Formats: sequence, structure tokens, C-alpha cells
Amino acid sequence: MEPRMSVPTENPLLKRMQKIIPGTTIRLPSKGIFYKNGELDVDVQGGEIIISPMTTKDELIIRSPDMLFQGTAIEQIVARCAPQVLKPTELFAKDIDYILVMLRKLSYGNDIIINFTCPTCVLKADKNEKVTPHDYPVSIDYFIRKSKEITDLTKYQISLNNGMNVKLRPSKFAEMIKMNQLNDNVTTPDELEEIITTSILAVIEAVDDVDNQDFIKEWLKKIPVLTMKEIVDKIAEANNWGPDFNYKINCKDCETEHDISYILNPVSFFTLPSSQETSKG
Ligand SMILES: [Zn+2]
Repeated sequence: MEPRMSVPTENPLLKRMQKIIPGTTIRLPSKGIFYKNGELDVDVQGGEIIISPMTTKDELIIRSPDMLFQGTAIEQIVARCAPQVLKPTELFAKDIDYILVMLRKLSYGNDIIINFTCPTCVLKADKNEKVTPHDYPVSIDYFIRKSKEITDLTKYQISLNNGMNVKLRPSKFAEMIKMNQLNDNVTTPDELEEIITTSILAVIEAVDDVDNQDFIKEWLKKIPVLTMKEIVDKIAEANNWGPDFNYKINCKDCETEHDISYILNPVSFFTLPSSQETSKG
């Protein structure tokens, strides 16, 4: 028998990797202000967390459609790449968006390529003419630069014209996932009413001194449309923070401006090709 080499108990390669890629510190746009239930590790200060680049397994997780739909993919990726986030589903959706955007940049670089077929060109084209899609490079830094931190907490306390006071809070990642799953195949007024009230209830902490969710939901179903509109507008105003995915491009052929925000979200960033990869035409 050959003498066995002694195997060190700690993998020297992993130790070396930690020195080369120590992780990047990012600051959550919420600055961690609202987190009081152990969502983040106790050593996190001012919402600053460390993220590490994704591994092969992370990539497989984030590209799995079933897991994406259920939100488990994102939950796992955040837990693996940002271990100071202890309860990913309890984080605000905007903080999760921000983590994903930063993680996309850290793991794959700054550029993504959008392959876009111009609808204006399609309309103008003859029946047998085929409109060629073009590649449009988009910089992830653009969205990071435009991301806003929470500054004004008073925006979450609103007074309605009818004299009632509503205490809002940003919506959590788990609630966003639930809403995304609900939105399919909903048609009846009853179902739609349920979706609208549930989504608004998700960002209301209390109305006057009442925090019972059932009471608030019943109230939401009875208030006049104008009051509902007032609440929806105030929610949009209060939620004006975090990364912003509004983006426009000009067609390379006809120069018409198109809003492509609907294609852009932090999850799609992981499925869109980088400039190094070849994009499919
Ligand atoms: Zn065009």
C-alpha cells in the first residue's frame, strides 16, 4: 500500500478564493430601517450587507422556471449569496430587486443585451417582409445609479381627505410573489376586487388605530372609488424608492422611441445575454 498524503481539514483553495473574492458590500435602499424581526443578521448596520458572486448552482437555480414562479429561486439565491439576509421572503420587494441587480452585475458584469423587434417597423412592413430584430446594449449601472434610498418616512403616514389616517409600509417580497401568482386567469369582478384589496392591504399597517387586517379589508371594499384612488396615489408616492426599471430605446431602423420597461426586471437580467455571450437573433 502506498503511504497516504495527509489531507488538511480546511480546503486551502476555498481560503484562497475568499482572499481573491471577498464579496462586495452593498447598501439596501431601505437602509434596513423597517426591519425589526430578525430579517437581517444582528451585525448588519445601516442596511449594509455583503454579497458574493453566484456559482454554477446559483445559476441553475435562478434559471429554473418553476422555482422562479414560486419565488423559491430568488429566496435561495439571496440566502446563498447574501447570507446576512436571514429571512429573504420578509425583505421588502425593492430591497430584493436591488440585491438581484447588484448580484447580476457582480456575477456577469455590467452589460446586458436586449434583442428587440420594433413594433413600429412591423406595422409599416409588407405582409411578406420580415422585420429584423436588433441587439440593444443596456448598462446595469444605469439602474443602480437611478436607485433611490428611503429618505422620507413621513410619506408612509397619510391623511385622507375624509379625515382618516392610514399607516403604510413597503410591500414585502413574499407578498409580491403571491400577487404575481394571483394575477393569472382572473376575470370576474369578485376575483378582481379580491386582488385589488389584497394588494393594497399588503402595504397597509393600520387605519386610524385599527390594525386588524380583516377589518381593514372590509373597509377597503366599502370606501368610495375616489378614496381608493387617493390611497393608491399615496402608495405610489411613498413607494418612490429603490431601483427604477424605466427604460426607453430608439429603433435602429426607424428611430421610433419605445418603452421597454416591461422587459426589464431584475429576474429577466439573469436570463438576458451579456455582451460577451452571443445573443440569439
Ligand atoms: Zn423601428
